[in-house]
Amino acid sequence: MPRATYNGCVIDPQTIAAVMADLGEPPYRARQVYEALAGGLAVDFASMTSLPVALRRALAERLRPVSLEDIETRVAPRGAARKTLFATPDGHAVEAVLMTYDKRATVCVSSQVGCAVGCAFCASGRLGLRRDLTAEEMVDQVFHFARLLRDDERRVTNVVFMGMGEPFHNYDETLRACRLLNDGDGFNLAARSISVSTVGVVTGIDRFAEEDLQLNLAVSLHAATDEVRDRLVPLNRTYPLDEVFAACARYVRRTHRKVLFEYVVLRGVNDTDEQAQILAARVRPPHYHLNLIAYNETGGEFARPRADQLAALRARLEAAGVSCTVRRSPGAKIEAACGQLALRRGEVAPQP
Ligand code: SAH
Ligand code: SF4
Repeated sequence: MPRATYNGCVIDPQTIAAVMADLGEPPYRARQVYEALAGGLAVDFASMTSLPVALRRALAERLRPVSLEDIETRVAPRGAARKTLFATPDGHAVEAVLMTYDKRATVCVSSQVGCAVGCAFCASGRLGLRRDLTAEEMVDQVFHFARLLRDDERRVTNVVFMGMGEPFHNYDETLRACRLLNDGDGFNLAARSISVSTVGVVTGIDRFAEEDLQLNLAVSLHAATDEVRDRLVPLNRTYPLDEVFAACARYVRRTHRKVLFEYVVLRGVNDTDEQAQILAARVRPPHYHLNLIAYNETGGEFARPRADQLAALRARLEAAGVSCTVRRSPGAKIEAACGQLALRRGEVAPQP
């Protein structure tokens, strides 16, 4: 009976090393397998022709190189975004999106199935939390698109944890995924090209500030006052705005890195003059940048702002000295905007 059996995907070099040690193989063999998976993006052991056939068979009996099965892909007009629905081995559905623009190819990754926070405008929140994803399942979403891009001789240039779920409610696995993506012996994506978005989990921001990686932090704000934010983000009652901003200030002091604030604009709710004025006083350059996101309607009480309303809000904020951009949303038409990922088809059936 092997000691290190593992029924998930095996991108983690430590898991591979443990299994190989069980099989009595030398360490260099473990490195070969890891490089083939995380560097070469192999989907099976049979293709690892540098390994003896018996070893390939033994590995296939013990490990599964890919943990998510892709079920369905939707492509946006002109191909600028594609959303893939995956099935986990225990029958959950997970979505991820690839957005391409010029030389950039950004993958938006889900960190949980559903989300416990339940923001008023978010489809993932409406699902409730089904379960955390493992680091392998997060990395798998990236590798899936990396294989597609490789066919066109392109690479994943950026990864954002802005799909389903609250990454800081699944902190350890999210950080393990970041490390796996960043590993120079594996996938080798620069930490500076990876962004983690939190709804404002203060304990998570403080931990994140202590990490030895140059990852980017994004914080979802959506309102300038607790009164408005309480209505949109239930977690604001646990971590009100003053505490979120205090944590961001600690993060900047500790890391000297910038914070990107996300602001989903809901027409007539958080785009008022009063909100803009208070926001402008709080989100100051050079360390704070604001990204306005036009709400993608998911059926509910909120409305998407018109383009001219969004432009006016941006102009007002910029005039008040805020460093501010409006997010492109190539995936809106295929319900693939970041944070909009949720199931239309219910749970998928468990895999045999
Ligand atoms: N839980 C984390 C990360 C996932 S959500 C967070 O909330 O930050 C990623 C981003 O997408 C968040 O800023 C979220 O508010 C936004 N988002 C969620 N639903 C959206 C929608 N329907 N339209 C536009 N943006 C949305
Ligand atoms: Fe969860 Fe983020 Fe959606 Fe809020 S916006 S429910 S934190 S995924």
